[in-house]
Formats: sequence, structure tokens, C-alpha cells
Amino acid sequence: MNLILLGAPGAGKGTQATKISDRYGIVHISTGDIFRANIKNATEIGLLAKSYLDRGALVPDEVTIAIVKDRLTWDDAAKGFLLDGFPRNLAQAEALDGFAKIDGVVNINIDHALLLDRICGRRVCKECGESYHVSTLGGATVCSRCGGELYRRKDDNPETVASRLAVYNEQTAPLIDYYTKKGVILNFTGTEAPAEVLFDEIKTALDAFNK
Ligand code: AMP
Repeated sequence: MNLILLGAPGAGKGTQATKISDRYGIVHISTGDIFRANIKNATEIGLLAKSYLDRGALVPDEVTIAIVKDRLTWDDAAKGFLLDGFPRNLAQAEALDGFAKIDGVVNINIDHALLLDRICGRRVCKECGESYHVSTLGGATVCSRCGGELYRRKDDNPETVASRLAVYNEQTAPLIDYYTKKGVILNFTGTEAPAEVLFDEIKTALDAFNK
């Protein structure tokens, strides 16, 4: 099963992605994680991508598309994959059509009023990438899943979030229509309820879809 996860920054894509990839045994590929790892390791891609991530802008399409095209040739993607954060505009979606077959698009709609608090309160595990909200951590500084150190992403601040949301509205939201027309979209609504509630809905839809 080859899936895309679509939704505004802070919609809960990362949390749902972990659950979906665990349940269906498909590899979770997050372009944001790939860029952050490259920045941490100061690779050529990392040096190029850093200024874009710092401003909440999109890394140029040719770079991002080449990374995903290559990543999908790895052995672990043969059983299926879940793309998180890609595609983010029509050019990327059209390019993806040229090298992968997409079975479904899990689209998480969310009231944008909820996003700022979610993103600015987000803490992420350095080791496994699991996301938390400070309000639920009770002061904990390590991941309850793997014990890794939690940190706040550099782009999870009010100024950068505004740019990221503008990019989402202008460039990524049109993909909902693109995939609706292709008949592969599955729509969900993110709320303040625990992530398990949304995952139950996603699971029900994907179980039926995966038969
Ligand atoms: P994310 O972790 O998905 O929120 O992505 C963090 C940042 O990585 C974005 O704000 C962009 O700067 C960059 N990025 C991630 N995915 C893409 C993509 N598909 N195209 C261009 N830039 C991306």
C-alpha cells in the first residue's frame, strides 16, 4: 500500500504516520526528517536546505523530488510506503505520478486556530521522531517510547509557523483537489481529542481500503 499523508503543519501527521507505518508495515518517509538529518550531518543537501527550513519556505523542487525518487528505490519501500510532507505542491505531485503509484491519500483537515498552540508547544524526540505536546509531558524531557531526548524544532516558533501556514494554504492545499479528482483521497478531521481517536478512524478506513 503506497500512501501520502496530507495536512497543514501541526495537523498531527507525524504522530499518525508512526501509527500507520507500524500497523501496516510500510516505511514512513518524511522529507522534513530527511532534511533535518542532512542539516545535522552538515551534508551538501543539508547546507542547501537549512536556509529554507529556517524561514519555513519550501526547498527547491528539483532537490526534493530527486531525494524522494531515490528514497523510493530502497528495498524497504518495496512493501509499501507512507509519504509525510511530500508532495507539497502541484509540481511535486505531478513528478511523483511519474515514478510511483499512489493508492491512497490520508488528508487530515484541522481548524487552523488550533495549529499555532500545537506547533509552538510541540516537542520531538531526537532519536525516534515521536511528537509530544508540552502540556501532556508533565515536565518530562525524554521520550516515553525510546528514552531519547526531546527538543523543540527550530522552525516551531510563531514567525516561521506563519510562513509555513501561508505556504500550506497557497501551495499544498490545492493537492486536496488534485487527489480528490483522482479518486484516492480519504478525508479526516483532526481535533483536540487524543491522537488514538483519529487513528481509530484512519485505521477503519485503511483496513477497508487495504482488503
Ligand atoms: P516538515 O517536517 O514536513 O514540517 O518540514 C519541515 C520543512 O522541511 C519545511 O518547512 C520545508 O522547509 C522542508 N520540506 C519538507 N518537505 C518538503 C517538500 N516536500 N518540499 C520542499 N520543502 C520541504
